[in-house]
Amino acid sequence: MGAEMVWRSPAALAPRDQHAPSYYAATRRERLSTAPFEGPARTDVCVVGGGYAGLATALELARRGVDVVVLEQSRLGWGASGRNGGQVHVGLRRDQHWLERRMGEADARRLWSFALGARVHLDWLIETYGIECDLRPGLLHADHRARLSAETRRHVEYMQSRYGYAELRFVDRDEVAGMVATDRYYSGSFDLRGGHLHALDLALGIGRAAASHGARLHEDTEVTAISGARGRFRIATARGQLEAARVVLACNGYLRRLAPAVLRRVMPINNFIAVTEPLGAGGARRLIANDCAVSDSRFVVNYFRTTPDHRLLFGGGENYGYRFPADIAAFVRPHLRSVFPQLAAVRLDYAWGGTLGITPTRMPWVREFEPGIINASGFSGLGVVLAPFTGKAVADALCGERDAFELLGRVPVPRFPGGPALRWPTLVAAMLFYALRDRL
Ligand SMILES: Cc1cc2nc3c(=O)[nH]c(=O)nc-3n(C[C@H](O)[C@H](O)[C@H](O)COP(=O)(O)OP(=O)(O)OC[C@H]3O[C@@H](n4cnc5c(N)ncnc54)[C@H](O)[C@@H]3O)c2cc1C
Repeated sequence: MGAEMVWRSPAALAPRDQHAPSYYAATRRERLSTAPFEGPARTDVCVVGGGYAGLATALELARRGVDVVVLEQSRLGWGASGRNGGQVHVGLRRDQHWLERRMGEADARRLWSFALGARVHLDWLIETYGIECDLRPGLLHADHRARLSAETRRHVEYMQSRYGYAELRFVDRDEVAGMVATDRYYSGSFDLRGGHLHALDLALGIGRAAASHGARLHEDTEVTAISGARGRFRIATARGQLEAARVVLACNGYLRRLAPAVLRRVMPINNFIAVTEPLGAGGARRLIANDCAVSDSRFVVNYFRTTPDHRLLFGGGENYGYRFPADIAAFVRPHLRSVFPQLAAVRLDYAWGGTLGITPTRMPWVREFEPGIINASGFSGLGVVLAPFTGKAVADALCGERDAFELLGRVPVPRFPGGPALRWPTLVAAMLFYALRDRL
């Protein structure tokens, strides 16, 4: 398996002029649509990638009066930002213990403040720009093994006593069973500041906000090469060249060959979602009594929630190549059935896949990796809250306010062993090992 194979079959990543056939695409209220880029042109900052990270970078820059152009190869929000589970998580993929051990207590505390700031920023975006994305409160992290209960209890106590995070509480088996109609979970932690929302409306709402401040957004515009140096980058597209003083790469799992330095640390993996037929208000509340989002403790996470029109939106199953399974509904169904056997015969009206960027430590890789070129990606399945705020941190840094950006720059993100050529076999072996452990 060599690097060549990576470039020859990027079916899941290839640009498209339509959104994925998702529930979100079918129900979105935001209707933002923009013209392709026509060059030549100049700008202060070129952002490559129109997901949460890129659009929020553009929004903050435009708010500050910086000239910014976003180039998106497909549609705005076409990537992970428009197709994810919509789960609102507070915090990072690694808990505070891990961060304290790896970065020291002071930086771990700063990162927790960053995570809380990201959650506040999400509310601010939604309220300030009137983004109708059905934000609902509450997220349950459910333990799929009895042995995890003690650890969860310790984690909750730690977050309450050391970080003063009173919104998180331990829930025992009876309470979990009262919230979710399954006997699969033994305990969990319930986060009142967590929640769920309409992923694509959030992305398009941020895009609309950026455009309202003068950011120039262009869909159907793939960046094929970046050359030059700080102060004068040349960004190549099929319809001409953009010249920019600085570049932000916000391509996450969809990056492909544009920046090998990023590929060494951020890898694409695919994750899948299915949405049931409408279950009626009663049916939906029977599944999840308090309408919260649920995310379980499996390595290949099952995550689910109900929608405003009373369907179950269920994410489960991953694969590690550049192709999606031919029948995604059939791929997700066993995961859904394992949690809700009572839904074995339910009709699945939507099923789609998406690609996310993961890093070896599951922490984002946010760096100026060449003078004038910043990368912001690798949110490792936790981007709904973090990616927009990271975009803001990048914009702040470009305007000289570098604290949050430098904090993110200290987060440990090593290279995948083997570099781009060998990372596939190494990663796939590791992933399959952990996925197998889920079943033990
Ligand atoms: C199935 C799935 C479920 C998920 N569930 C959740 C969840 O419930 N909660 C959560 O917090 N996170 C979740 N995530 C992760 C979350 O969606 C991401 O972390 C987040 O959307 C990342 O945003 P982004 O802007 O970095 O990347 P993306 O939204 O992927 O945007 C990158 C964009 O770059 C564009 N691009 C790439 N290369 C080029 C190029 N050469 N030229 C122009 N444009 C280019 C792509 O077309 C794409 O639109 C999920 C992800 C997936 C795939």
